[in-house]
Formats: sequence, structure tokens, C-alpha cells
Amino acid sequence: MSSTLDLQQCTRSVRGGASPDPATGALVSPIYQSTTFLQEGVGRHKGFTYSRGANPSVDQLERALGEIEGGLPAVAFSTGMSAITTLFLTFLEAGDHVLVSDVVYGGTVRLLRQVLAKLGIEASFVDTSNPPQVVAALKPRTKLVFIETPANPTLKLTDVSLAAEIAHSAGALLAVDNTFLTSVLQPVLDQGADISLLSTTKYIEGHNSTVGGSVTARDPALLDKLRFVRKTLGCIQSPFESWLTVRGLKTLPYRLKAHCDNAQQIAEWLEAQSCVTRVLYPGLASFPHRELALRQQKAHGGLISFEVQGGADAGIAVMNAVKFCYLAENLGAVETLITHPASMTHADVPLEQRRSAGISDGLIRLSVGLENPQDVIADLQQAFASLSASKVKEVACAIHS
Ligand code: PLP
Repeated sequence: MSSTLDLQQCTRSVRGGASPDPATGALVSPIYQSTTFLQEGVGRHKGFTYSRGANPSVDQLERALGEIEGGLPAVAFSTGMSAITTLFLTFLEAGDHVLVSDVVYGGTVRLLRQVLAKLGIEASFVDTSNPPQVVAALKPRTKLVFIETPANPTLKLTDVSLAAEIAHSAGALLAVDNTFLTSVLQPVLDQGADISLLSTTKYIEGHNSTVGGSVTARDPALLDKLRFVRKTLGCIQSPFESWLTVRGLKTLPYRLKAHCDNAQQIAEWLEAQSCVTRVLYPGLASFPHRELALRQQKAHGGLISFEVQGGADAGIAVMNAVKFCYLAENLGAVETLITHPASMTHADVPLEQRRSAGISDGLIRLSVGLENPQDVIADLQQAFASLSASKVKEVACAIHS
């Protein structure tokens, strides 16, 4: 089934934050590659003084992100990880507790376990797809509930509205890492979240050209606090990356639609292959949280995870055998990328946590790009065939096209 396009989102993406340059009439805003800004007198300036605090190109990106996310102008960061770090340092202090989805991007786990734990910030990794477990894991000093849905890399889902209710009942904020869908496909602020966080490195910029992060909210006080900590840490996005990200953002709804349609086709094909033992894609009827996927997501994104017969050796052999898909660590860009979470994105997640979260050593993550999906299918088909022919003898792979 092909996903639909929200035309109002298309307008917001193309026009958000932009207006012709008043000085020259340029339709595309210039890049304000300036560290410092002239002040008319002491305490009198045009809103910009020094680019660690604010910059007009970053400002434009923040207004555009706010429109797409359905919030106030966002706070833009140099990376997704600096957005997450700033979020935690803004709303947590020594002795506080943060409740986190058990399946999240590996960098978030590393940050909490290996950096913030030393500062006395306590994190519990909980199966947030199971609301009673979330309630049971709350502590008197839980200040923040941080969920990722769909989660990287198993695509496990958490009910955003329920998580918001639970967090609010405990006096905590709910932040959602919405990187995999963005608010175009999953408007988490409408669903009750206080904060929507994105790695703009992925679908927002979408062309494998920048790293960046964003945090949006509807409460200006939350955003002011984040801006203060960002200025103090010095992790604002740069003018050039902001300009590139604004350009990527203009086509976001169209790209997302194509990512979703291509992923649906490839996921259905994968499910029909006898050598594929498990396919995780929220657009499939077999997906474990299918009912929630239909209720919470407008379409199901461009990420698929799957396993093949033969376990880790076979999975790794497939990733080594692909020729068209790029073996690489990013996701959400125009090129199709294939990733081995156990050794790449989630290598620093302790083995026990990986196992209990379902991140097996053979799990393959596919970020479906915007090429002809038949090219991806042909590539996977030849990789499966090479596997069954020689590499792992026990895998009898019947290929159906
Ligand atoms: N959140 C998710 C869901 C991610 O997948 C990633 C990176 O892969 C990040 C956050 C971190 O973003 P960045 O790589 O831009 O720092």
C-alpha cells in the first residue's frame, strides 16, 4: 500500500523559515558565515552578537524545523548526540533519574552509561512498549522519560500518548527521539510529548552531507533552558550545515513518501524469501506492534531490520556480499545503506542489553533509499544466492523474485 502525501506539510517544508532576502531579493537565503555581528551601541543590536549563541542561518533552520515539527522554532545542534547531551544536562542533575527505552540508538546508551553515570545521573533502560513496566520503573527522582519510537534498530514501538500520561503523572517530562519518522509521519507533540528530538543527520537533511540535531517543544521556557545550555556548551549548528539542512528539508515529505513506499515493497519481498527468518517493518501485517503502528504513524518509514537463516555468520556474509547497497553507518538518506548494528551502531551497548533488546549478532538493518527498489531487491537476491551457493552451506536459500 502506498503512503499518502500531506500537501500542507509540503508547503511548510518548502516555505518554512524562508522569505526572499530583503537586501538583494535572493530567493535562497545567503549563508551568514560570520562569527560576530556589529552592535549599534552598547546593548543595541539586531538580535545577533556571536555565533555560539545565535546566527541568522541557524535561525532560519530553527524556524523551518519548528514548522515541520508543529512546535515553536527549534533549537539546532551540531549533531544529534549534542542535542541529546544538552537535553539530559538541561533537565537532569546529580541524583536525578531518567527512564529510557531499552532499545535506543547505541550512542544514547554510551552517553548515559559511560559519561552521565559519572556525574550521578541515573538511567534505567526499560521496555517502554510495556506500560506497566514503565510505571513500575518510575522513581521519586524521575525527571525525564526518554523514548525512541520506532527504536533503532529493532523498530520496537512505544505508545507516545500513554508514555506522556505516565511521565506527567510522575511530574516528569516526556521526550521522544523522533529521528526515524519525524513529525511529518509521527506528530509526537500532538500525541502528548513535551519534546521532539531529531538527529537531522538522517531524513531531515537526507543527503548524507551533514550531521546535526534538533529539539522542538511548545513551551518556550523549555526551549530557553536548552538554548542557555547549548550556548554554554558551545554545540550550536554551523551556518553552512544549517543552510544545507534547510535545503534538504524542502523535499522532506516527498522523500519520506518514497522511502516508505520503497521500504514497503522491499519488506514484503523479504518476507517471501525462505532464507529470511524474521522481518521487522511496521508496514507488515506480521509486525509485533502493528495496531499501534497504524494508530500512531501516518506511514511506516524507510528502515527495515531482518535476519537470515544461519545466524550471525550468515547475516555478516549477506552484508559482505551486497554490491549495490552501501555497507555504512548512517540512515535516512537518499542512498540505500546496509548496517550491522552489533558491530557498528550498537557496538558499545553491553552484550547482555543487546541480547535482551533483541539486537542479535545476525540482525541486518536496511535503510531504504530513493533508488529503484528493484535494484535493492536484485542486490539482496544475489547476496542470498552467493550465501546459499558457497559461504554458509547449511543455508538453503530458495529465492523467489
Ligand atoms: N538518534 C537516533 C535514533 C540515531 O539513529 C542517531 C544516530 O544514528 C542519533 C540519535 C545520533 O545522531 P547523530 O549521529 O547526528 O549524532
